[in-house]
Amino acid sequence: MKSKSAIFVLLSLVCLSGCWQSGYQSYDDYPLYEGTDLELTYTPQQADFTLWSPAARKVRLNLYTAATGGEPAEVIAMRRAEKGTWRTSVARDLVGWYYTFQVCDAEGQWLAETPGIWAKAVGVNGDRAAIIHWQETDPEGWDEDQSPELKNFTDIVLYEMHHRDFSVSPTSGMQHKGKFLALAETGTKTPEGLSSGIDHLKELGVTHVHILPSYDYASVDETRLEDNTYNWGYDPKNYNVPEGSYATDPYDPAVRIREFKAMVKSLHANGLRVVLDVVYNHTYSSDHSNFNLTAPGYFYRHNADGTYANASACGNETASERAMMRRYIVESVKYWVNEYHIDGFRFDLMGIHDLETMNRVRSELSAIDPTIFIYGEGWTAGDSPLPVEKRAIKVNAPGLNQVAVFSDDLRDALKGSVFEEKQAGFASGRVEGNAESVKFGIVGATQHPQVNYHKVLYSDAPYANNPTQVINYVSCHDDLCLVDKLQLSAPEDATPAERIKFNKLAQTIVFTSQGVPFMRAGEELHHTKQGVHNSYKSPDAINQIDWSDKTKYAELYTYYQNLIALRRDHPAFRIPTTKGVMEHLRFIETYDPGVVAYTLGEYANGDAWREILVVFNGNRHAVNFPVPDGEWTVVCRNGRIDPNGLGQLRGGRTRINASSALIVYRE
Ligand code: CA
Repeated sequence: MKSKSAIFVLLSLVCLSGCWQSGYQSYDDYPLYEGTDLELTYTPQQADFTLWSPAARKVRLNLYTAATGGEPAEVIAMRRAEKGTWRTSVARDLVGWYYTFQVCDAEGQWLAETPGIWAKAVGVNGDRAAIIHWQETDPEGWDEDQSPELKNFTDIVLYEMHHRDFSVSPTSGMQHKGKFLALAETGTKTPEGLSSGIDHLKELGVTHVHILPSYDYASVDETRLEDNTYNWGYDPKNYNVPEGSYATDPYDPAVRIREFKAMVKSLHANGLRVVLDVVYNHTYSSDHSNFNLTAPGYFYRHNADGTYANASACGNETASERAMMRRYIVESVKYWVNEYHIDGFRFDLMGIHDLETMNRVRSELSAIDPTIFIYGEGWTAGDSPLPVEKRAIKVNAPGLNQVAVFSDDLRDALKGSVFEEKQAGFASGRVEGNAESVKFGIVGATQHPQVNYHKVLYSDAPYANNPTQVINYVSCHDDLCLVDKLQLSAPEDATPAERIKFNKLAQTIVFTSQGVPFMRAGEELHHTKQGVHNSYKSPDAINQIDWSDKTKYAELYTYYQNLIALRRDHPAFRIPTTKGVMEHLRFIETYDPGVVAYTLGEYANGDAWREILVVFNGNRHAVNFPVPDGEWTVVCRNGRIDPNGLGQLRGGRTRINASSALIVYRE
């Protein structure tokens, strides 16, 4: 790792793309510009343009009357100004116009046009920035929009969804299929007459909708929506504008903005907070990204030979440690909070960003609203020139201030590694070697005296300072969905009914564990992607949720609903501090690698129940568990769950069926 650090230092001293020809020895010499007026400041009397491009020889502004095609109506040379900026002003009302910037680089080459990196409105496909009447973008009542209350991060239940998956099926009952506005429709029904859409989410009991990338991305051609092209959206183009293909009209720059806000407003009004999946770690294009067409080279990391470093495995990686890139990330998320009322951010490949940047994101967002939730993937997809100790990765999470990371330890312990299709996990009968990782998940990846960290799958130490800093989950958009993973990895003699038991057990562990639970949309409806791992551009037929499954798998759905209700009704499962978990959670020695058991008590975290006993049997055979003598009320047993009780239990040797959970409490 030392050699890599040396390369990194060398690179930060040397300019690529010939920036030295403009007098800068290194990217670190580029002046920091802290003004808030970058790129466009509009009033009806005047438009001021400011581009940050320190190494440019010349910069020009192109004004257009249309979003695509034709020659610029006007080309204006911008003048060099302070701190690496270039400026010009146009003293008339430019509303309805489009613009691009064009940089002549340090070597004297005119680069392609760019809308800049701070475009807040764009024309179709985001190639030109748009000047609009901003007040037209606010839906009615936007000023009164308020996020639902949130007390602790451990009260959150995350529901990860994609706009098309959620609404595009003919069975969705939603009118605006594949659009932001689908989440503004209430009263929608499945063909069988059950609730769908936002009503379904309320009924299910989740607290936060985590929407897959919804900023403007590159891979779907917004002029050919009739092709029904699908993409997850991890291919960023304009970070500060909503994606056009999710709008009812991608040609009118105000529409996508107004409809995005209408979606947020509707979710808020229905008691749901909104998380945006953000992908600042790489861009879709490399040489032709808006970053490179604005300040060539500056925003990326490079290898010693000048090629792009590629920790994203998508062709490039950004350089959050550079002052203006760090500032960009921080200002961009602040913009989404202030303009769009976003309540949280999920950082894709957060390990590509440095710890200081993520902590800056936290502190600046906390200054606006401390209940904004921040989490990310605490890993990279490839090696990076950024030294390991600076990366916002899982092992460094103790150095993060209330930024949560995903627990791949619990995920893979429950259902088997995502990299080994046929490997099962604790919940699907492969109990050997997984119990300690399940315990690690139960304590929310925090310090607990009864967990042996050396036996945990990928970690030798706790990485969450508090349970608020870990995301527990068993599946997300990546890799096989839960149903498919269980199908492909279950022992060959496992029946469909047994796989449902595995499914319930896996999620019961996730939703009763300390930490923040997360689920992928459709898991509650037994959604299958028909064995496709990487469905990022698969057709709707693979990705869409079939809402008729709500009737077909009604029993499974009710289980998920009751499981979430149990968590929401009982603070014992939502202890916000490590100290609290240590104080209230005790594991019971079971002498069986397939059985994990613990108690929560006395009135843990203010719970109405004095003592709760939780036992997970991952074995494919029944076990007898010694429940302490007493008057217990059963809430979960043998594949059924009901927070209102399923009868009484005296204690003593109690049969727990194969692949199931027992949860009982006493007053
Ligand atoms: Ca787009």
